[in-house]
Amino acid sequence: MDFELPEELRLMQEQIRRFVDKEIIPTERDAYEGPDMKPEVRAKLEAQMKEMGYWLITVPEEYGGLGMGLLARVLLWEEMGRTIAIPARKTQIFGPEPSPILFQLNEEQRKDYLYPVISGEKDCCFALTEPDAGSDPAAIRSTAVREGDYYVINGYKRFITNAQHADFVQLLVSTDKSKGARGISAFLVDMDTPGVSIVRAQQTMMDDEPCELAFDNVRVHVSKLIGREGDGFKLAQDWINTGRIRHGARGLGVMRRCLEMGTDYAKQRETFGKKLADRQAVQWMLVDTHLDLEQLRLAVYRAAWRYDQGMDVRHDAFAVKMLGDRLSFQAADRCLQIHGGIGFTKELPIEKFWRDQRSMMVTEGPEEVLRMSLARHVLDHYAP
Ligand SMILES: Cc1cc2nc3c(=O)[nH]c(=O)nc-3n(C[C@H](O)[C@H](O)[C@H](O)COP(=O)(O)OP(=O)(O)OC[C@H]3O[C@@H](n4cnc5c(N)ncnc54)[C@H](O)[C@@H]3O)c2cc1C
Repeated sequence: MDFELPEELRLMQEQIRRFVDKEIIPTERDAYEGPDMKPEVRAKLEAQMKEMGYWLITVPEEYGGLGMGLLARVLLWEEMGRTIAIPARKTQIFGPEPSPILFQLNEEQRKDYLYPVISGEKDCCFALTEPDAGSDPAAIRSTAVREGDYYVINGYKRFITNAQHADFVQLLVSTDKSKGARGISAFLVDMDTPGVSIVRAQQTMMDDEPCELAFDNVRVHVSKLIGREGDGFKLAQDWINTGRIRHGARGLGVMRRCLEMGTDYAKQRETFGKKLADRQAVQWMLVDTHLDLEQLRLAVYRAAWRYDQGMDVRHDAFAVKMLGDRLSFQAADRCLQIHGGIGFTKELPIEKFWRDQRSMMVTEGPEEVLRMSLARHVLDHYAP
């Protein structure tokens, strides 16, 4: 077993860490205007990433991207997780990030949707969640009914990130209710199609503003169906796995930054004639985060490595998401505690880490639901 990162990945990690320290962290609190990164900040950071050769990291080489393996991406996400300047949920600064669903389109569909996303001409969103179906997507009510060469879509979606900026939506609706999750199909729907409307954007405690979308007798040609009827979930599976591992990677970055800030502050701040760093109660908080970070790192890197070897990472992804979100939230919470009152102010990034990481414990699968899925594996595995 070799626990060392390959040399080229280690060098990349060091380079990006230096970049984050020098170029991003010093101005991170000024990076936003409302829920979005200021355009000039994004443009500058993206230009720097392009120049450094970190562009289109998730896009395979045959489409002009870097086709980076997941372990390499994890290292980049981890470093970006150390700063609140980089959006927790939206596109980072490595250029467009087409969803894995778009690579499964047929050539005709790719021309209108995949290639324009890669070139930056089009933006998109992904809509599955509904008012009555979040963790339990099989309960979705939105439907697509075939009428000749068209499908007629009716329904309502909520919490849809980036819908305000999207040219089209990757929409999951039911084409056969009797089949539950297996009756869910994926469609490409242009946002300017008659009957599609953004009802409202909702403000959240994390600054994200996900939208509610209504679909009222929306007619889309059969050529907009992705794959076959009932493929919706299968198409999203790879995305779901890598997305969950990304949660773990982000958690690593948050935890490292919380340790850096917590130890630094504890060494400076004096109460009752002694540094906080000399108090066992504070030392133990820092040690707990250190222990969590070391364990999580092994789990996240291993999951990414297994993915790169073509192994099934479904269960690794459940575990890494669950642990990453929970442990990083706890790390932010301890860091806040160590900083006392100043930790709550908007001068420091801790309160934002705290809010963002708390929200991660619900989005893309709450812990209780992941545990339910993992329990099936545990029951089968240990007493087959
Ligand atoms: C900021 C933000 C951005 C989002 N972006 C998108 C997006 O772009 N596209 C999209 O489709 N969705 C998006 N979502 C939706 C998100 O994925 C859902 O919120 C999530 O899946 C949980 O669904 P829910 O909110 O309906 O909670 P529910 O499913 O109603 O669950 C509520 C709570 O009940 C508990 N629970 C649920 N089921 C079980 C169970 N079986 N056993 C025990 N406890 C259980 C859990 O504690 C859970 O937190 C976003 C949400 C937010 C907040």
